[in-house]
Amino acid sequence: MGKRVIVIGGGIIGASVAWHLARRGAEVTVLSAGPGPASGATFGWINASFYLDEAHFRLRQAGMAAWHRLEAVAGQGLVDWCGCLNWEEPDPAETARRLSGLGYAIRQLPGTELRVREPRLAGLSDTALHAPEEGIVEGAEAVARLLAGSGGVVLSGVKVSALLAEKGRVSAIDTNAGRFEADHVVLAAGTETAALLAPLGIELPMLQRPGMVLRTRPVEKVLSHIIVAPGQELRQDAAGRLVASTVGKHQEDRADRIAERPDLAAEATLARIAALLPGVDLELESVTLANRPMPADERPVIGAVGPEGLTVAVMHSGVTLAAILGELVAAEVMTGADDPLLRPYRPSRLIA
Ligand SMILES: Cc1cc2nc3c(=O)[nH]c(=O)nc-3n(C[C@H](O)[C@H](O)[C@H](O)COP(=O)(O)OP(=O)(O)OC[C@H]3O[C@@H](n4cnc5c(N)ncnc54)[C@H](O)[C@@H]3O)c2cc1C
Repeated sequence: MGKRVIVIGGGIIGASVAWHLARRGAEVTVLSAGPGPASGATFGWINASFYLDEAHFRLRQAGMAAWHRLEAVAGQGLVDWCGCLNWEEPDPAETARRLSGLGYAIRQLPGTELRVREPRLAGLSDTALHAPEEGIVEGAEAVARLLAGSGGVVLSGVKVSALLAEKGRVSAIDTNAGRFEADHVVLAAGTETAALLAPLGIELPMLQRPGMVLRTRPVEKVLSHIIVAPGQELRQDAAGRLVASTVGKHQEDRADRIAERPDLAAEATLARIAALLPGVDLELESVTLANRPMPADERPVIGAVGPEGLTVAVMHSGVTLAAILGELVAAEVMTGADDPLLRPYRPSRLIA
C-alpha cells in the first residue's frame, strides 16, 4: 500500500500537489469544501518579472519552467504562452537591464513593433517591454484538469473541521463527511489555512488582500499578449473574453479592502478598456472577488509545521508557483527531500 496522503484544498495548489504526489506513488485523497475561491478569481498571469527579492525571483522562474514540464505530461494547452507587453514601467531600459541581468527573457521594443504586435490597441507608447516567455493559466480550468488527471480520489463538498494528532503525529482529519485517516496531510486551504492550524496551537499570520477581476462577454480576437498599460492589466481568453484587473499593478496591490464599490470599479475598468480598444463592443460578463492567500510577509509558506506528518502550502502568486510547488512538496512528502529553493519559505520564520 502506498503512503496515504490527504490534501486539504481543491484550488490550484492542492490540485498540483495532488497531481505530483500521485505520480510519485502516493494514495492521494483531495478533500475540498468547494472550488478554490482564489484560483477561480485569479488573473492567471505566470511570470517572474514581478518579485520581492532574488530568492523569490528564482522560485518564480523555476515556477515558469515547471509549468512546461507539467504541460509535457499533463497535456498541452494548460498554459497560453502568449508573452507580455508592458509599457507601464517608469524606466523600461533599467527594468530590462535588471531582469536580463537575472537571466530573464525580456527586451525593449520600439513603438513600431508594438503597433505591429497589437494593432487594435490605442494609446500605445513609443516603447514597451516584451517578456516572451510569460503566460496565462485559466485557474478554474487548470484545477479541473489536474484534479481529473491526478489519479487521486477527489471529494468535493467535504469541509474539514479538525486535524487530529496522536503521539505528536498527524493521524486523521475530521470533516462533515466523517473521519479520514492519513499517513501525511498537506494543508493547501488558501485563505482558510490559518483557521485550520489555529486549533493545533499554531498561529500563522496572514494578511487581508482582496482583489477583483472582470470579464467581458466574448469579442472578436483583439489581443495577442498580456497587456500592462498604465493603470490597466488586460488579456483575452481563448473564448474571446477580455479579462482585466480592476486595479493597476495588481500583483503589488497592498490594499486591505476593496477601495470602490465593485460595480463602480467595474464601470471604471470597462472605461479604461474602451479607451485602449476603441470600437470594440464591451459588455460586462462577470466580476469575481476573492482574498489572496497572503502570509504576513507576502511570501509563500511551505513545509512541515506542528505535528509530524503535516505540511502546509499557502501563498499568493499561486498560479505562477503551482507547478513547481507541486513538484517540490510531493518530493518532500515522499522522500524527505529538502530543496534549497524552499528554504526561504519555511513556516518557522513566521510561526513562533
Ligand atoms: C484577484 C486575484 C488575482 C490574482 N492574480 C494572480 C496572477 O495573475 N498570477 C498569480 O500567480 N497569482 C495570482 N493570484 C493569486 C493566486 O490566484 C492564488 O495564489 C492561488 O489561486 C491560490 O490557490 P490555493 O489553491 O492556495 O487557494 P484557493 O484557490 O482559494 O483554494 C483553496 C481550497 O481550499 C479549500 N478549503 C478551504 N477551507 C477548507 C476546509 N475547511 N475544508 C476543506 N477544504 C477547504 C477550498 O474549498 C478550496 O478548494 C491572484 C489572486 C486573486 C484573488
